[in-house]
Amino acid sequence: MIKRRQLLTGGALGAAGLAAGCECGVPAGLDNIAGAVRPRELKMVTTWPKDFPGLGTMAERTAQFISDLSGGVLTVKLFAAGELVSAFESFDAVSDGAADIYHGAEYYWVGKSPAFAFFTAVPFGMTAVEIMAWTEFGGGQALWDELSAKFNIKPFAAGNTGHQLAGWYKKEINSLEDLRGLKIRMPGLGGEVLRRIGASAVALAGGEIYQALQSGAIDGTEWVGPWNDLAFGFYNEAKYYYWPGFHEPGAQLGVGVNLDVWNSLNTTEQAIIKAACQWANNLSIAEYTANNADYLDLLIEEHGVELRRLPDDVIAAAAKAAKEVLEETAAADELTGRIFESFRASLAQSQAWGRISDEAFMAARRETFSL
Ligand code: CA
Repeated sequence: MIKRRQLLTGGALGAAGLAAGCECGVPAGLDNIAGAVRPRELKMVTTWPKDFPGLGTMAERTAQFISDLSGGVLTVKLFAAGELVSAFESFDAVSDGAADIYHGAEYYWVGKSPAFAFFTAVPFGMTAVEIMAWTEFGGGQALWDELSAKFNIKPFAAGNTGHQLAGWYKKEINSLEDLRGLKIRMPGLGGEVLRRIGASAVALAGGEIYQALQSGAIDGTEWVGPWNDLAFGFYNEAKYYYWPGFHEPGAQLGVGVNLDVWNSLNTTEQAIIKAACQWANNLSIAEYTANNADYLDLLIEEHGVELRRLPDDVIAAAAKAAKEVLEETAAADELTGRIFESFRASLAQSQAWGRISDEAFMAARRETFSL
């Protein structure tokens, strides 16, 4: 009886002993049964600078969660952008097995397939909660699995920046006319939308933006939101900060696991990785929501930032262009078409429900209540 209780309360030490097949009464070979967590170190590459708030730190937390949930038996060695491979080489590194896991944003892989954009954010697309609904219950994960499997990768959501802002401009934008000819840093499908409404969009990596803004090479830029944007100091070069961020209404971060590595894990080890990703996803939505509000105050009160709403004609033109861009993207190939149709159906449902729930409540609260 006592021996049984000792075994049952063995905890992490018990798991470690089991995993190592040690001389502690556990028959050799038990380390391979489904359910045992076996000592293993996985290499994680990321698209983020080391310790970058919310992005780099969320990759670090995801790695830590895997270790915590496995009682320290499954560990992750993390490499920031440039430490093992460059940011945008992360996908290939995991695909060919040079690394085991990446933490990044799926829209960085649109060169592999344009369909990857739908799993991060597209202009006028889904909020953080809406993309979770599509991924978990709207058929999104199965399609994402199918897409990533073509590249030998198993994907998961593992973070979300929440709503991003439209970005920083050196001069005020009072109409669509004011936007014409301006050179703006906005990557991906959002950049394509800007090009179609008269601006000139460029894609620059995060670390290159400030210099380009300072030298006048660009007239404006988007990055993430108040918390992350303050860290780069854009307010020093461009005082006008525009909302809403039509281009990235809830940018989801992703983890990709090499598919051979994934298939070599037993059900417990797979569950640990999945749980760590979901933990990171939930935590980041809370973290961005809390910090963006604080840092927005700081930007306005300490740094004299002028907050502005994008003019109606800019929003209307961007929405019209976004519909064209998304439909053209969907026509790229059969799988991208199916992913777009699933995304569109889920968004239509979210919009129908949102109209009488979140949207209606927030409008009512704004007009009637404050604490
Ligand atoms: Ca962005």
